[in-house]
Amino acid sequence: MEKITKIIDISLPLTNDTIVYPGNVPVTIENHAHLPDDSSHLSKITMGSHSGTHIDAPMHAIEGAGEIDVFPLEAFVGPCRVLDFDFENVEITRASLESKNIQKGERVLAKTKNSNMGFESFRPDYIYLSGDGAEYLAEIGVALFGIDYISVKQRGSKDNRPHIALLSKKIPIVEGLNLKDVSEGEYFLSCVPLKFSGIDGAPARAILMSNNN
Ligand SMILES: [Zn+2]
Repeated sequence: MEKITKIIDISLPLTNDTIVYPGNVPVTIENHAHLPDDSSHLSKITMGSHSGTHIDAPMHAIEGAGEIDVFPLEAFVGPCRVLDFDFENVEITRASLESKNIQKGERVLAKTKNSNMGFESFRPDYIYLSGDGAEYLAEIGVALFGIDYISVKQRGSKDNRPHIALLSKKIPIVEGLNLKDVSEGEYFLSCVPLKFSGIDGAPARAILMSNNN
């Protein structure tokens, strides 16, 4: 990209009100020290490794598989395509993925009705990636897959292929994107995970860059 003319923040804000998946650690931000007597403002932050916009590591869903460090940074920075699945009401199916002509090595972000419904409270009926859709993406060999809810798989489902098909091939999953202000098309993505080491996931600041106005 020659010149970046626009940056779109596609991350969820991290506050005491950030939605978390049921049973996960809530985001808590407390004042730890403050001016003047503690000599500076300082916050204490408690959160789970899968809070807000974040990356899933292979070990999140597969015993003994890789930690967050296993992904090369190249996976998280580079050209990407936002695909609009606004016509889906339940899940992103294999057939609708097939209609998008996805290529090996592409970074793919899926926009669904989730983004338009917002992230004020947890919705158990969020739109997710189907199991055979995940297997299709793994067969193609995408470089990264992102989705606009805090889980890639159906709430409570025993079908964990959305995690396993992708993570077993070391394809990073980005969860918790907000694609409300983004149209289908080509962008440049940056969503580098914070440098936590040896664990199952990490938060990231995700942005899209474009040279269109
Ligand atoms: Zn996760």
